[in-house]
Amino acid sequence: AERKRRAAAVIEEVESSLATPTALLRSIADAMVTEMERGLRGDIHAQLKMLISYVDNLPTGDEHGLFYALDLGGTNFRVLRVQLGGREKRVVKQQYEEVSIPPHLMVGTSMELFDFIAAALAKFVDTEGEDFHLPEGRQRELGFTFSFPVNQTSISSGTLIKWTKGFSINGTVGEDVVSELSRAMERQGLDMKVTALVNDTVGTLAGGRYMDNDVVAAVILGTGTNAAYVEHANAIPKWTGLLPKSGNMVINTEWGSFKSDKLPLSEYDKAMDFESLNPGEQIYEKMISGMYLGEIVRRILLKLAHDASLFGDVVPPKLEQPFILRTPDMSAMHHDSSHDLKTLGAKLKDIVGVADTTLEVRYITRHICDLVAERGARLAAAGIYSILKKIGRDKVPSSGGKMPRTVVALDGGLYEHYKKFSSCVESTLTDLLGEEASSSVAAKLANDGSGIGAALLAASHSQYG
Ligand code: ADP
Ligand code: MG
Repeated sequence: AERKRRAAAVIEEVESSLATPTALLRSIADAMVTEMERGLRGDIHAQLKMLISYVDNLPTGDEHGLFYALDLGGTNFRVLRVQLGGREKRVVKQQYEEVSIPPHLMVGTSMELFDFIAAALAKFVDTEGEDFHLPEGRQRELGFTFSFPVNQTSISSGTLIKWTKGFSINGTVGEDVVSELSRAMERQGLDMKVTALVNDTVGTLAGGRYMDNDVVAAVILGTGTNAAYVEHANAIPKWTGLLPKSGNMVINTEWGSFKSDKLPLSEYDKAMDFESLNPGEQIYEKMISGMYLGEIVRRILLKLAHDASLFGDVVPPKLEQPFILRTPDMSAMHHDSSHDLKTLGAKLKDIVGVADTTLEVRYITRHICDLVAERGARLAAAGIYSILKKIGRDKVPSSGGKMPRTVVALDGGLYEHYKKFSSCVESTLTDLLGEEASSSVAAKLANDGSGIGAALLAASHSQYG
């Protein structure tokens, strides 16, 4: 009974520290809009970098030819080739391959990482079949999706601002990542030109727009989180160049670095942040994204093990190990709807090493998964809502008339595979928008949209015009 009382006390404390009432989400969204505006002004203290992508035109559907794309940004990287057939034939054929990045390369040297990538790309190019056609005398062209914050200097160049999501490599920050990749391709003897360097959010936006003309923003919920959207070029005070003909500019918000007193930051978040590779940074990302959700759950379970002997008199040693509980496992436990929570029990055995857990312990574990996932999903929805606010697509125009159909493209393993998470994002967004506006807004899964998007942008920025 004493154990139960102590468990209840911890759970109650967790519930209140992770709570995200709708009113709080609204004030978080307002704070994000303010930060977006600061970022667009170029305020050096702005938390959202609001990076200029140099993409002022999204794909039209007319793109044609053979293009490659490379997506580097998480645990896997993908290479892709696509034969584009213009307005009529669209995507004629596409092929891709996924390669996981050996963990030691994520914390090694720049050259090792880029050599590994270029080698995999060269191997992939070697398998190009007859369905793909490169006109005589032309160089192959590549769209490079690089999902880290970059200070873009043109559509095809940019310097790394910082690593995130578990990457920590000396000597890349401040370097042009396109030159790094190009040099590595040369070392592999691969003749290919990078014609577009894009963030994955920008790639997803481009891929999303190709599929649906009403896509105005893209959000990634994967290992990390980020968003991009189409801004009016004249609403970007820091843009000193010529106004693009289209009047638009895609902005990569880098919203993962958002931080605010309003965010419901618990002791578990603070401890995880403190021990991370990038303490004090990417606070919003650490509350939302796939790299961290399972780890937050682990920390709460550990507290319950310590304070309320949740897993018996001894704290299971495996539970002490950071990142042993991964978000896909958390998701599997959370989705267990069997009467005896059998899957969850088996996961606890596998991961934590506790063979016999009572039904009550399993229910508590599932409840913790629910609390952590729900907070993440609701915070993500607040972010999406803030972008819609920023571009005036959060409510029916006051001048009367109907709100234009508005589509947000979403991608990332977390959104794609964690059903309870994605449904919560969607229902919270509906809730924030209200009935009328939400009837014009759709969230759409853009599966691997960033790869196609990068290839499309490589096509529209081809050296052959
Ligand atoms: P990245 O973000 O690294 O480019 P993805 O978009 O494929 O790659 O996202 C991978 C991330 O998605 C994983 O790190 C994991 O956190 C999350 N994820 C993958 N599968 C699942 C799942 N079944 N349930 C919950 N999260 C998942
Ligand atoms: Mg990705």
